[in-house]
Amino acid sequence: MSDSCFAPAPVAAPASPRHPFDLQGRVALVTGCNTGIGAGIAVALAQAGADIVALNRSEASQTAAQVQALGRRFIAVQADLSDTAAIGDALAQVLAACGQVDILVNNAGIIRRADALDFTEEDWDAVMNTNLKSLFFLSQAVARHMLDCAARQGAQWQGGKIIHIASLLSFQGGVRVPSYTAAKSGVLGLTRLMANEWAGKGIHVNAIAPGYIETNNTEALRQDAGRAGEILQRIPAGRWGQPADLGGAAVFLASSAADYVHGHTLAVDGGWLAR
Ligand code: NDP
Repeated sequence: MSDSCFAPAPVAAPASPRHPFDLQGRVALVTGCNTGIGAGIAVALAQAGADIVALNRSEASQTAAQVQALGRRFIAVQADLSDTAAIGDALAQVLAACGQVDILVNNAGIIRRADALDFTEEDWDAVMNTNLKSLFFLSQAVARHMLDCAARQGAQWQGGKIIHIASLLSFQGGVRVPSYTAAKSGVLGLTRLMANEWAGKGIHVNAIAPGYIETNNTEALRQDAGRAGEILQRIPAGRWGQPADLGGAAVFLASSAADYVHGHTLAVDGGWLAR
């Protein structure tokens, strides 16, 4: 063996100086981000460098100011996602405004509470349309757009990330929330199916399952002191979550740090499912 084998190798410049969580130059479309978890995720993605496009039912709120204060672009498009016929037009407006979507966060969701014996078809349809049907058809539309980008940009295309917001009720039955449990269980199935079909095309599909988070969605629950106390006692971390608690998981799944993660559901629940 010659001495030259031990000569120090020339130091190559790093292939990419980017931090793996850096989202600069990426555009994230977040549904229902005026409030709650969506707002927490939009701000976290903006902190990591992404520009934000909001697909909201109501008019823009504080989230716009928070994102802009971070020096990121914030574009809002209004759409009622319970009406899947509105999705094509909404996405066309989004693309006219920002050109390209790199990250989709399917966050918009509602809940209706009643015993399974009394549950109405109206409440069933409202929840399924918003929480599951729109998630599927918006993902389909965005995935088609991402594949167009891939075809046009070739090796320059950096891949697409789709993140679904699931729930503890994706794993557990719950009570008095039949359509919500069905929809959120379905979100898990679709996360796996989309990952199976799209991973090989450069689109990453994963989900986040939040635990009990203090938002409008859980306000009624929190007003029931007995039930709220029971929940708190069962959370190993000893507190309810805040919308900002979901930010790190979203940044991870949206970033190149998660480039080999497909079809996974990351629980952010203070340890609830560990119990
Ligand atoms: P919020 O009620 O604060 O947020 C829900 C968001 O969804 C709102 O911005 C709402 O918009 C939007 N939205 C609802 N319906 C539609 C629609 N038809 N079209 C467009 N946007 C719509 O609740 P959370 O932040 O808690 O919920 C966010 C997600 O997190 C949901 O998918 C929920 O199921 C999930 N989740 C929440 C948990 C929690 O403990 N809070 C636990 C597990 C999952 P608008 O303000 O205009 O009504």
